[in-house]
Amino acid sequence: MKLFPLFADLNQRLVLVVGGGAVAARKAHALLDAGARVRVGAPELNPDLAALARDGAVTHLQGRFEDDWLEGAWLVVAATDDAAVNAQVAAAAAARRILANVVDDPALSSFQVPSIVDRSPLIVAISSSGVAPVLARRLRERIESLFDHTLGPLAELAARYRARIRERRPDLGARRRFYDSLMDGPVAALLRQARPAQAEQALEAALEQPQETPAGSVVLVGAGPGDPGLLTLKALRALNEADIILYDRLISDEILSLARRDAERVDVGKRLGEDHTATQARIHSLMVEHARRGRRVVRLKGGDAFIFGRGGEELQFLRAHDIPYEVVPGITAALACAAHAGIPLTHREHAQSLHLITAHCRDEGETTDWAALASTNQTLAFYMGVGQLESLSRRLREHGRAADTPFALVENGSRPEQRVLTGRLQDLAGLARAHDIRAPALLIVGSVAALANQLHWFGQHIDGMAEVPTA
Ligand code: SAH
Repeated sequence: MKLFPLFADLNQRLVLVVGGGAVAARKAHALLDAGARVRVGAPELNPDLAALARDGAVTHLQGRFEDDWLEGAWLVVAATDDAAVNAQVAAAAAARRILANVVDDPALSSFQVPSIVDRSPLIVAISSSGVAPVLARRLRERIESLFDHTLGPLAELAARYRARIRERRPDLGARRRFYDSLMDGPVAALLRQARPAQAEQALEAALEQPQETPAGSVVLVGAGPGDPGLLTLKALRALNEADIILYDRLISDEILSLARRDAERVDVGKRLGEDHTATQARIHSLMVEHARRGRRVVRLKGGDAFIFGRGGEELQFLRAHDIPYEVVPGITAALACAAHAGIPLTHREHAQSLHLITAHCRDEGETTDWAALASTNQTLAFYMGVGQLESLSRRLREHGRAADTPFALVENGSRPEQRVLTGRLQDLAGLARAHDIRAPALLIVGSVAALANQLHWFGQHIDGMAEVPTA
């Protein structure tokens, strides 16, 4: 560890800022926010600093830096654009054993100012030891998005009740669970709704309740199509709070790596040639077993759990066994593939409705209403269809969909290796074979599909319409 992290109490303590420009002003504001007394030394002040000096919020020392400006200061920040002055400030500060920060110059600095995520009284500070401020800022953005803005008020509330909580929950485990329940339960929810008084009442009520045994639960989380950037913030939070994650085959390593480090990860993906009923039964019993042991179970599925994801069956099972659950929606393959292929699924001139259809059905011919799918002005999105392109194309045409209806086949949608193949319905199976399209792939049928030729922007695009000109 190159730098020792510390949080300094600057309340009523004098800090010198050398410099009169925008950077100096930013530092002065941050220091004032922390309650410091700020002295600004510079030949001239920018309007912002001049206003602060006029209001008496800072004192102004006019001129070029002199050693005695440091008199009485606890810290100094050098924020001038003159390297010689900055070096002089650093040397003078060192001679007096005063910690100095020279903006953007780690070599001259004896302390550095971290990037922060401010949910006061909770503060997260990030440092790259001065070597990669951009990375630190990126990390800050990530952390910023993890914690909603109720965290500050929640921490304040918890601080006020700290003694009471300790008294009512003397056992450490129970106390931890109580703090967890504050973050996950009605108290935080009420703060999010900007109802602080009710939140406090809810906290009081919870404190008076007898100590609960930990209640396990299941969160059914849609992980989207694979790109971690397409996870929702709620999904990320669930992953961060999980004790155990039961995940499907299509879940990427990148997404799993976002989960809490010590969460147990169990691959419950269905494999080819495996008895799917047995696998599903195993998933059901794992969810119930772990939730009953008081664990927070995340059931992580590709795309959205309620779209060809058996999410409904899993919830019915949980309901039947009295296990509390939540559902976090995910971006389903049709939305992700369409977006990444440049295909608007509805369009005023092309399609007024969208059908999500599974091509993988035991009695496909009987359950799918092909006649209803044949009319124009609607977009069809077929999941799990790579194996049956020949019959899909034939049935749609038999029921009246025009042979030259455009299609787009999106393979590995939203992933770096994405390929989009466009063409006409009559050529579907032949083109897919010629280009060796494999699962996972989504088939979009309808005149919007042709827009991919014009609007594609991601991955590889293959224009099969140009390859196979219409007769
Ligand atoms: N619940 C999932 C769908 C599960 S069914 C969802 O909402 O997306 C699995 C099918 O989804 C695959 O056969 C394929 O048709 C489609 N699919 C999932 N991810 C995909 C991807 N990245 N690219 C293309 N199709 C995908």
